[in-house]
Amino acid sequence: MSSWKSYTQDTRIAYFSMEIGLRAEIPTYSGGLGVLAGDTIKSAADLKVPMVATTLLYRKGYFEQHFNADGWQQESETSWKPENYMELLPTKTLVTIGQRDVKLQAWLYRLKSPTGGTVPILFLDTDIPGNDEEDRRITHHLYGGDLAYRLKQEVILGIGGARILKALGFEIRRYHMNEGHAALLTLELLKNSRLPVEDTWDERGSWNTRQVTDQCVFTTHTPVPAGHDRFPYPLVAETLREEISIDFLKGLAGKDEFNMTMLAMNLSRYINGVAKRHGEVSKNMFPGFEIHAITNGIHPFTWCSPYFVELFDRFLPGWANEPELLVRVDNIPDDDIWEAHTGAKALFFQYIKEKTGKTLDPELLTIGFARRAATYKRGDLIFNNLSRLLDIGAGKLQFVFGGKAHPHDNEGKQVIQRIIHQVEKMKGKIDLVYLENYNMDVASRFIPGVDLWLNNPVRPLEASGTSGMKAALNGVPNFSVLDGWWIEGHIEGVTGWSIGPPPAQIEQEAGRTDEDLDDMYQKLSEVIIPLYYTDRSSWIKVMKNAIGKNAYYFNTHVMMRRYVTEAYIR
Ligand SMILES: *Cc1c(COP(=O)(O)O)cnc(C)c1O
Repeated sequence: MSSWKSYTQDTRIAYFSMEIGLRAEIPTYSGGLGVLAGDTIKSAADLKVPMVATTLLYRKGYFEQHFNADGWQQESETSWKPENYMELLPTKTLVTIGQRDVKLQAWLYRLKSPTGGTVPILFLDTDIPGNDEEDRRITHHLYGGDLAYRLKQEVILGIGGARILKALGFEIRRYHMNEGHAALLTLELLKNSRLPVEDTWDERGSWNTRQVTDQCVFTTHTPVPAGHDRFPYPLVAETLREEISIDFLKGLAGKDEFNMTMLAMNLSRYINGVAKRHGEVSKNMFPGFEIHAITNGIHPFTWCSPYFVELFDRFLPGWANEPELLVRVDNIPDDDIWEAHTGAKALFFQYIKEKTGKTLDPELLTIGFARRAATYKRGDLIFNNLSRLLDIGAGKLQFVFGGKAHPHDNEGKQVIQRIIHQVEKMKGKIDLVYLENYNMDVASRFIPGVDLWLNNPVRPLEASGTSGMKAALNGVPNFSVLDGWWIEGHIEGVTGWSIGPPPAQIEQEAGRTDEDLDDMYQKLSEVIIPLYYTDRSSWIKVMKNAIGKNAYYFNTHVMMRRYVTEAYIR
């Protein structure tokens, strides 16, 4: 493999992520974290950052979502063929898990940019003849199985990933852990950094932690405590068969539980949250650590609808690799902006018709909401006072919803069901569609195809949020709670609208629901609906500002340049 050498010779940064979302046909992601990872890698390729990425293969993917007649989520297995997109590399390595050695191989996906940059992505796979049947399944399901299954996956990702990079001949200088799932890689690096005179794990001093810390960068992604992986030490002792003493690990990963975030933080030179506010919240969660903030982004070309690609190409050539050019959006005539939007909306409505048989009215102000159905995102909030919503919106609004609940998340499934039940309750007054199986393909039609992008999570639990950035890029203004990236992107009435109070000294404020709801209804009826129907040119001004004041900055090109200068090469 002659081209292989060129990857290994120049590549210095390894990006580790439990999920990577590149396209809908490769179902190795579940939501925002994976899509962000994919977008990050795409920008790295565009910008020719010398990066290799590592994740798991997930032959059985995440799951396909359907609804039964009562609006309850049903799951079915996805199937896909890695060989249609990737090549199997001949190199193999071994990782010990529990009592057994597990063989590990990697599939290579070459992410090629039109600029000529390439980032190789390694999808790790234990489904190899000769491995125990149980071990062959370790890399089958994304977020499936129990705690023990998850820990095994993280051994494969962290330790297996580091080993296969070495076996392939990579000489990595920076390891970027995208969330704590990959933190076990630090243990492999520790092992390799062992000082020659010592031969025990027992004392922290025996290991050159400094040398490991120098190599590692860690990004934390969620202020939801359950989002941080923790394992009981007995399980860790049973699973990790490296010659690591538990006492030594307790000094790095926490006394009572093995906390992947703590491990990553203790062994990283640079730690960051994914928006300014999230950086601050993380500092409070993990006192004593220096935590920076690099706000997430989206990959501009991936998330731009064909209508806006054509428009931006015409007026702002070069925008896709230099999204800062979007700041000049005011050079595009209003009519062209509106025409592109109308095109994206028609394309999406056609898709809705095909999938559901429902015909939505293209003239109506259409509100979109789609993301993982986690309860803190409060998907059904807007229906809390249905009579008020009907007063405000009958004949003027329609809704499109989407999003999957994790198969074990019954509360999330209940949120979806409550939304679907609104269809009957609002019948003849406000139309609502809940689209099945929200994924990257659905998202790419959905987000540009509505008029307003709604987001109302419980503050401060939305670490960043990225779907709102996809909306802004396509001239769809955000109507959102001031949390995550929107605190940085929001200018009231200029780039979109806020919901609820400003981000005061909020720790956790699930109790602000009524305030949020009241503000939401009031702004819809007094500001947003009148503007949309009676002052189209002012509405288009907001659309342009979403592009020129949000999308030009909240993208993975800007983000990647910051990671390079602030975390990788500093
Ligand atoms: C962008 C995206 C997300 C993330 O949405 P948030 O608003 O950040 O939660 C989730 N799922 C898919 C398929 C996406 O494309």
